[in-house]
Amino acid sequence: PARKLSLLGLGAMGTALARAWLAAGYEVTVWNRTPARAEPLRALGATVADSAAEAVAAHELVVVCLWDDASVGATLDGADLRGRDLVNLTTGTPEDGRARAAWAAERGARFLDGGIMAVPPMVGVPEAGGYVLYSGSAELFARHEETLRVPVDARYVGADAGQAALQDVALLSAMSGMFAGITHAFALVRGTDVRYGDFAALLADWLRAMAGPSVGTTARQLEQGVYDTEAPSNLAMQVAGNATLLRTAEERGVSTELLTPYARLMERAVAEGHGDGDGTVMVELLA
Ligand code: NDP
Repeated sequence: PARKLSLLGLGAMGTALARAWLAAGYEVTVWNRTPARAEPLRALGATVADSAAEAVAAHELVVVCLWDDASVGATLDGADLRGRDLVNLTTGTPEDGRARAAWAAERGARFLDGGIMAVPPMVGVPEAGGYVLYSGSAELFARHEETLRVPVDARYVGADAGQAALQDVALLSAMSGMFAGITHAFALVRGTDVRYGDFAALLADWLRAMAGPSVGTTARQLEQGVYDTEAPSNLAMQVAGNATLLRTAEERGVSTELLTPYARLMERAVAEGHGDGDGTVMVELLA
């Protein structure tokens, strides 16, 4: 494959991507709305295009990493996309991904949407474990897979261009819940004799021990469509336990605003007759 590409968008992420391709010896043409951000990359050997259209014209493979989907449309508006392989690494919704795929197809480009599961310091560092979820044109992915794997590992998740964004956002949503829990946990122990470092070690081990087996159980139960089996920690038990979590927060003067939404959902599940099962049924209740 050709070891060259154009990259539009040199924010924190775009710059990290550009550096990784340049370090691997790729020929990279870059463009950024604010030109000054391209200068450090010029010094590393990048060609700096004067316009987005010029960057698009430079190479068959065009990667965009912009702020949001609207900025992708605004940036590529005047460019000739015919025959281009367009890879969009801008975070968006699944609908954004599908609409952008149709938009690219109308303009004669192949399209791949990507969701980056990494932060900039993980780019170019394979052992950091980052990856990009890709969906859309399988042909484009096969053609450029080797290039796409240079900055971060790549995982193709299907022809539906919305699938990468969907899984990206699902993972980020899970992370959001996890961070909510971590925030509440530290708020509880704050101002006591606890040493934060010691508590952090407990917390990290606990989250790992709970999350790993739990997601596997949930997946199995969803596949089988059977949730209300004899659960070792059933919802009725967990709802009783929630009272202790809420009372402890009150004793410690800590707001329960992060805790209550999930507790309410569990109560609803029990009220609807799912007390013997475990949490998987709540996936259905949310839908
Ligand atoms: P930055 O805020 O650092 O950079 C944003 C980039 O978008 C800049 O190049 C900016 O140009 C450009 N931009 C914004 N609006 C427009 C517009 N209307 N027209 C043209 N260009 C525009 O963001 P990041 O680099 O961190 O993020 C880029 C994408 O990567 C986002 O979608 C983000 O969700 C995703 N991502 C980021 C991660 C991170 O940890 N940083 C992690 C995973 C995904 P200018 O310099 O002119 O302002």
